[in-house]
Amino acid sequence: MKNLNSYRVFKRNNQEPNANGEYVLYWMQINRRFHYNFALEYAVGWANKINKPLLILEAFSCDYPWATARTHTFVMQGMEEHLEYATQQKLNYISFAEQETGQYEVLLKNLTSKASVLVTDEYPVFIMRKRNETYSQEMELPYITVDSNGLIPLGITEKDPYSAYLFRKTMQKNFVEAFTNPPKKNPLDDLKNRDSINLPGSFHENLPERKKGPANITKFISGLKINHDVKPINWHGGRQAALGMLGQFIQNSLLEYDEKRNDPDEKKTSNLSPWLHFGKISVYEIISAALKHQPEGWDLDKITYNNGSTDGFFNGNQSIDSFLDEVITWRETGFHFAHHRKDYDKFESLPSWAQQTLNKHRDDKREWTYTYEQLENAQTHDEIWNAAQMQLRRDGIIHNYLRMLWGKKVIEWTPEPEIALRYLIELNNTYAIDGRDPNSYSGIFWCFGRFDRAWQERPVTGKLRYMSSDNTRKKIKLKQYLNTYAS
Ligand SMILES: Cc1cc2nc3c(=O)[nH]c(=O)nc-3n(C[C@H](O)[C@H](O)[C@H](O)COP(=O)(O)OP(=O)(O)OC[C@H]3O[C@@H](n4cnc5c(N)ncnc54)[C@H](O)[C@@H]3O)c2cc1C
Repeated sequence: MKNLNSYRVFKRNNQEPNANGEYVLYWMQINRRFHYNFALEYAVGWANKINKPLLILEAFSCDYPWATARTHTFVMQGMEEHLEYATQQKLNYISFAEQETGQYEVLLKNLTSKASVLVTDEYPVFIMRKRNETYSQEMELPYITVDSNGLIPLGITEKDPYSAYLFRKTMQKNFVEAFTNPPKKNPLDDLKNRDSINLPGSFHENLPERKKGPANITKFISGLKINHDVKPINWHGGRQAALGMLGQFIQNSLLEYDEKRNDPDEKKTSNLSPWLHFGKISVYEIISAALKHQPEGWDLDKITYNNGSTDGFFNGNQSIDSFLDEVITWRETGFHFAHHRKDYDKFESLPSWAQQTLNKHRDDKREWTYTYEQLENAQTHDEIWNAAQMQLRRDGIIHNYLRMLWGKKVIEWTPEPEIALRYLIELNNTYAIDGRDPNSYSGIFWCFGRFDRAWQERPVTGKLRYMSSDNTRKKIKLKQYLNTYAS
């Protein structure tokens, strides 16, 4: 029987690595971390097997959809932390931020021309998906993508799960094996060949002059042709900040998560999605930290396969079980869906009942309609919606409960569902620091019926699950939230 982690490896052009090149190249595209990273571990494995040094490339393009000063700052802060670590550890590491379109591709092609094999991150959406599809066909070296995104390997599902319940069954069957075969904490400890790689001068000439420090990141970014209206946020994009956020959450909020996570004023969610998105922290570390707080006497033997039900699987503390359901099942349902569906960002990917009901109500009269600019500037009649949009603009995130309401309302306020989808994707991916993620698409498409079922029929939204601002106001605590964002 195949080992579970072998379902993480995708030999994109079916070529086997050989010892002809000068090094093994690991191209860190999205799981930007040196620890608990299956792709890095796999690259180290090949370097040892063919006795070559390892070169790690972490780069950032300046020309991609929704490029903003917000995203750039966050990513470059993480790269700066890496550069310091790599220098201390004497790693062959290139940190490259592109200044002009095309430099990144030239660098990548130069580096691959001398490599025995290219190992990179498997990722089911956005530019990483397109790059992996295209480059693996164009490049002549073995092109291998490795999935270090979640607990349950992407290769284990045979098709897109149509519900979280269906994916939860797969998760429950594989949880123990996945959790007990984690990525190594420090895969670079195993690297045998520590030779330094002499990089041809041309590679370095491509690197922008950039001195260390936040002011210099700001200066570097100010010269780029990206969207500067979307400002950096207060959170730092490095791994240390991610670990700090995890520690705070575990200490202050985990055990109240189930009861209070829906109340924005309680601030009891983890806030980990930005670092999860850029791979600064592994989901294994999060699960492991949470499980340590299960009641005394709890161990993996308490787990019982429960046919996809939320309750009665971990059989531990209710809050921990509920948090794990979000960070494993809900998060990874979206990854597995996108992995199997090229059309993950299209109206046509919705379940047929959702398409039918939206088509039936396409011409219903809308009580309010707003333009993209009105939505972007939080200029609707709805105080709660405007506050959520203001949080997105200022902090780069929306509280999960309000994020659902935020998405649902745009369906009611735009002339047709495709326009609503376009606006939501544009707003989310421009402003959200965790945007451009498989969960951006699961969250937005969930508002349109993905992973859901039909409910009572209404005008405009048909059989989609309905959410109203009035009910939200009654149901959750948001006085402080409105004080902060509604002004
Ligand atoms: C319209 C809409 C858009 C969304 N866009 C994004 C996005 O761009 N990026 C993103 O990461 N998530 C998105 N989500 C899902 C969810 O809102 C966020 O993951 C969550 O609010 C992040 O906050 P947290 O880290 O404090 O979550 P916590 O409640 O602490 O949960 C821990 C982790 O579990 C995962 N998770 C939690 N809730 C969900 C969920 N409903 N679906 C999938 N995964 C979940 C996330 O990785 C999250 O970081 C969206 C949801 C909606 C309804």
